[in-house]
Amino acid sequence: MKRIVVLGGGFAGLWSAVGAARKLDEHGVRPDEVRVTLVDQNDFHSIRVRNYEEDLDATIVPLAQVLDPAGVERIRGEVTGIDAEHRAVRVRTDAGVQVLHYDRLVYALGSRLRQPPIPGLQEHAFDIDTYQEARRLQAHLRGLAGQAGDPERLRVLVVGAGLTGVELACELPARLGKLSAQASDRPAPQVILGDASPFIGSDMGGEARTVIAKALAALRVETRTGIAVASVDRGGVTLADGSRIDAATVVWCAGLRAHELGEALPGQKDALGRLEVDEFMRVRGVPGVFAAGDAARAVLDGTHASVMSCQHSRPMGRHAGHNVAADLIGQPMLPLHIDRYSTVLDLGPWGAVYTDGWDRRVIAAGAPAKETKRIINRQRVYPPLSGDRAQLLAAAAPVVEGPPQVARPA
Ligand SMILES: Cc1cc2nc3c(=O)[nH]c(=O)nc-3n(C[C@H](O)[C@H](O)[C@H](O)COP(=O)(O)OP(=O)(O)OC[C@H]3O[C@@H](n4cnc5c(N)ncnc54)[C@H](O)[C@@H]3O)c2cc1C
Repeated sequence: MKRIVVLGGGFAGLWSAVGAARKLDEHGVRPDEVRVTLVDQNDFHSIRVRNYEEDLDATIVPLAQVLDPAGVERIRGEVTGIDAEHRAVRVRTDAGVQVLHYDRLVYALGSRLRQPPIPGLQEHAFDIDTYQEARRLQAHLRGLAGQAGDPERLRVLVVGAGLTGVELACELPARLGKLSAQASDRPAPQVILGDASPFIGSDMGGEARTVIAKALAALRVETRTGIAVASVDRGGVTLADGSRIDAATVVWCAGLRAHELGEALPGQKDALGRLEVDEFMRVRGVPGVFAAGDAARAVLDGTHASVMSCQHSRPMGRHAGHNVAADLIGQPMLPLHIDRYSTVLDLGPWGAVYTDGWDRRVIAAGAPAKETKRIINRQRVYPPLSGDRAQLLAAAAPVVEGPPQVARPA
């Protein structure tokens, strides 16, 4: 029996595994001829893009609900090593260390929050990089609200005004407002959004930045640009110029980096630590290994490289899955070509902003963009949960979806 091993059950890994199962099914290859195995440290698939939201319950999907009907084997464990020369992966599970041998591998361990070596950052800052961390932040804020006394205790500093930081900062006033209303002394909700760069939301381009500024002002989020955090402590941060920003909660949202295990693979990496892949998602220079999602860098249209995003991770995953199986069974592979790019950024109760194209033209703002974002976050990025094998396999076909339609507010 041959084996395809997929590392990671995020947007890229999940669709790689189901995509491989789909391709094998199409050619009548039985699971006892080629087994597809997915390894993840969690037993759930995280809709990570929703980690800034208040209600986290619906943001996780049991992996078994998707993988079992697709006929994909699942191993819960932490990948601790990859030996590309001997085609083996080391996994730490509850039952001990397992070594999995593969014929083909899909590396999809994603990305992690970039945490520079700033004193106190690891101990005192919160983040929303993973479901567990988002839950920890939520529990911390609830705990603070419940401790009557300090009227400033619901003051939150979000560091990093990229997409994640802006979404969280816009969501927090309403979340903190609810917590305040439940507290006997009604502490004032206060949100500060800070960034080292001279602009808030600099990744979104000038046109969208104007919309973001309007939303932040309406939501009474204070902004601080050009700041350099020198250290973090329980009461806030000290800046490089010696001044302070006091806050009972500091949330670090300053950038992502590809998972460090990619370093164990010999292929070329970019500045974000991503493995360079060709149009078939094969890691350049590493036979038998494919990569997808935040862990990989693919050129999508001859010019633009993939962006660490769910928008690119899902089609990269579906193509990696198709191609890893096709390669193993001697079928033609399909190149990935994506010639569009759009971003819908949540701006909390104010609405959202939708930009289209690499030049980020604003095509909707406010309520229609918000409804579009709601559909993306609650429907579009979820796998089918019906348990219907045919439906699941069909959803894993190697296609690139069209841009989200601007929705009419409900
Ligand atoms: C708060 C937030 C908001 C975002 N908003 C957007 C958005 O609006 N639009 C957008 O396109 N993108 C957004 N992103 C980015 C998007 O979430 C990522 O690009 C996407 O999750 C990447 O998918 P992936 O499968 O490559 O990696 P990941 O989602 O990182 O998945 C990696 C998987 O590997 C597993 N794993 C990691 N290490 C190990 C290990 N050692 N052993 C076993 N398993 C392991 C993890 O448990 C996880 O399941 C957002 C991200 C965050 C954090």
